Amino acid sequence: MLDNAKYDQINPPSRLLMGPGPINADPRVLRAMASQLVGQYDPAMTGYMNEVMALYRGVFKTENPWTLLVDGTSRAGIEAVLLSVIRPGDKVLVPVFGRFGHLLCEIARRCRAEVHIIEAPWGEVFSPDQIEDAVKRVRPRVLLTVQGDTSTTMLQPLEQLGEICRRYDALFYTDATASLGGNALESDAWGLDAVSAGLQKCLGGPSGSAPVTLSARCEAVIRSRKCVEEGIRTAEHRDGDDEMIYSNYFDLGMIMDYWGPERLNHHTEATSMLFAARECARLLLEEGLDAAIERHKLHGGAMLAGIDAMGLEVFGDRRHRMNNVLGVVIPTGLDGEQVRQMMLNDFAIEIGTSFGPLKGKIWRIGTMGYNARKDCVMQTLSALEGVLNRLGFAGPRGAGLQAAWDHYQREQPS
Ligand SMILES: *Cc1c(COP(=O)(O)O)cnc(C)c1O
Repeated sequence: MLDNAKYDQINPPSRLLMGPGPINADPRVLRAMASQLVGQYDPAMTGYMNEVMALYRGVFKTENPWTLLVDGTSRAGIEAVLLSVIRPGDKVLVPVFGRFGHLLCEIARRCRAEVHIIEAPWGEVFSPDQIEDAVKRVRPRVLLTVQGDTSTTMLQPLEQLGEICRRYDALFYTDATASLGGNALESDAWGLDAVSAGLQKCLGGPSGSAPVTLSARCEAVIRSRKCVEEGIRTAEHRDGDDEMIYSNYFDLGMIMDYWGPERLNHHTEATSMLFAARECARLLLEEGLDAAIERHKLHGGAMLAGIDAMGLEVFGDRRHRMNNVLGVVIPTGLDGEQVRQMMLNDFAIEIGTSFGPLKGKIWRIGTMGYNARKDCVMQTLSALEGVLNRLGFAGPRGAGLQAAWDHYQREQPS
């Protein structure tokens, strides 16, 4: 018999999630997820799938017909694109400026790519010239980039890279998981061939669905790969065949056939996650993409003003900061984990830690999605200020909140 004392109905503590993601989901997204299921081929369901495609074209700013969801967290979207586009032996180029660049390298290696990297110090990004030089030298089939790398809080400018990729005949991919909805992204205007994302950052949803958009060039490459039909492995599809996509679940050719007019059976679309993804996009477009980006800029700016005024140092090149995550250098003499624990235990506010070369060196504070709001910024600044004062950090008392108020007055005079 179930030990009821041990297994209560799930009832998570109420937290304000101000880290690098996930963040609190918009209640409207949670309500959409609570909707009853419909059958996989119910006209209502296929109708929702078509709506999701149309809505995400708006979010990605693209006309790409192939704009759909890969079921799984953001990394499922990354894997689907890389597995479906990269043939074993293909050269790929990855400009790495943080942890998620390394993730692209790791996944590309699993695709048996010949991986070339250029590296920028953490806290910096690449100039278009640096990337062009490397493209010229390596001649990759695919350029794999991260737009906003939450590990360093930096935003790689992508505007000019599409043209470079065209000139050297490379496909252009970006992981926009952390940046989409809070920073400008123009898939078509910037010449992107594939973009993948997730819901748990600026889109205000839970993790578990990966919106992806694919250009016609990208589609052509995917379609040129051999698909193995379930149960039919012909002589053409020998093990070790370079043309075969080494995944069924992440075979974007098959996923396109499921989302397209043919509706060929593949997986069972994760219905509740599709409801969530639909509501995330609907809310974003209802607000207006530009307005949402401005909102992230406003509240991220207020957080920055507050942190500056507290006498804390901001990590990385400010000119290339993401609107939605801020790296804050942990002052010497302070135990960063103790601060995070006090924030959580005494204020129920979560801020982020770091990893790799930044472990123990910076906190990461997010203002994104549903939590890109004035009240969240003010609560976080006042709590952080209180905790730091309590631990003897001799910053100017109360200055953070005042600076944030000033920022709001300046940027948003009513
Ligand atoms: C947060 C983040 C992810 C998250 O991937 P999940 O599989 O959803 O955990 C991926 N890429 C970037 C750049 C991120 O910041």
